[in-house]
Amino acid sequence: MRRHLKAAALRGAAISGLFALGRHRTRRSARIFAYHGVSGTIDPRLNFDGFFVHPNVFEQHLRTLAGHYHVMPLDDLVTALRTGTPLPDCAAAITFDDGYLNNFTEALPLLEKYRLPATFFITTGFIDGTHVPWWWIVRHALRDQPRTAVIDWEAKLKRLSAEQRALEMEKAFGETITSTDDALTMMSWDYVRELVQRGYPVGGHTVSHISLGHETRDIVLAEVSESMQRIQAETGTISPVFSYPYGEAEHFNPEWSASLAERGCIGGLTTLQGLNEPKTDPFRLNRLNVTGNHDRYAFRALASGLLGTK
Ligand SMILES: [Zn+2]
Repeated sequence: MRRHLKAAALRGAAISGLFALGRHRTRRSARIFAYHGVSGTIDPRLNFDGFFVHPNVFEQHLRTLAGHYHVMPLDDLVTALRTGTPLPDCAAAITFDDGYLNNFTEALPLLEKYRLPATFFITTGFIDGTHVPWWWIVRHALRDQPRTAVIDWEAKLKRLSAEQRALEMEKAFGETITSTDDALTMMSWDYVRELVQRGYPVGGHTVSHISLGHETRDIVLAEVSESMQRIQAETGTISPVFSYPYGEAEHFNPEWSASLAERGCIGGLTTLQGLNEPKTDPFRLNRLNVTGNHDRYAFRALASGLLGTK
C-alpha cells in the first residue's frame, strides 16, 4: 500500500512539474549514476533489491537521461569539477561497477542506441568469465530465507578482510554452493577489450573486490596498483578515475587519495548518495545508486535531486 501511495505521489510530482523544478534547482551540480548489472533473466530471489536492472527499465532511464540531462564522459566531468571549469547544465555521467558480462550484452547496445557515454569499473580478478562474487554465493545459499538474513550476512561479511571473509563463508555455507545463475557471469578480457574499442573506458575496482577500509595498507596499495596495471596491459588504456568497492565511508580511507593520485588517478567514486559540486573532494565523489526498483518516476525524482540526495 505504501508503495502504491509513493508511486502515486511521484506520478503527481511529475505531472505538476516538480521534477523540472528540482532539475532546475540542481542544474549546476554533477550527478554520477551507479549501476551494476542489466538483466531480464536473473532469479528474483537473488535480485530482491533490484541490484540488477531490467533492460526495459534501464532503457526508460536512458530515455530520461538523453532527454533531460547532459550525459558526458566521466573523466571530462571529474576534470571539470577539479579545475572549476563550468559544466553544462544538468551534467551527468553513467558508471557500472564489477564487470558483469551483462554490461556488455545488455547495457552496451542500449547505451549505443541512445549514444550515451559510460565508464565500466572492473574487478580484475573476476575477469575470467567464471568467477562468482561472494555476495551472489550468499544470496544463492539463502535464496529461500527472509531477505533480512541476506542483508545481515552481507553487512557482516563486507566488513571483513578477504581472508577472514573466506573463513566465515566456509564455516557458514561449507562447500555445498557451487552453481548460481547465468546472469551473474563476468566478462572475459576479450569483452573488456571490445568495450574499450567501442569507446567505453574501463577503470579499476581492485583485483578481488576488497574493502579499502578493512585491509592493511600493503594489501590496499597492491590491489590498487595490480588492478590498474592489468587493465592498462590488457586494453592499452585506463580511466583516470577509480571506483571503491562497497563504496560507503567505512570502505575507503582518505589517506589513500595521495597514493591514487601518484598512480595517475584524478578521482575516486564512492557509493555515498548525492550530487557533486566543484568543492566536492574529487577522491570522495558521490553517486546516485540506481536499482531496478527505480521506475520512470522514481528515476526522474532521483536524477532531479528531489529525492534521496543530500
Ligand atoms: Zn563493486
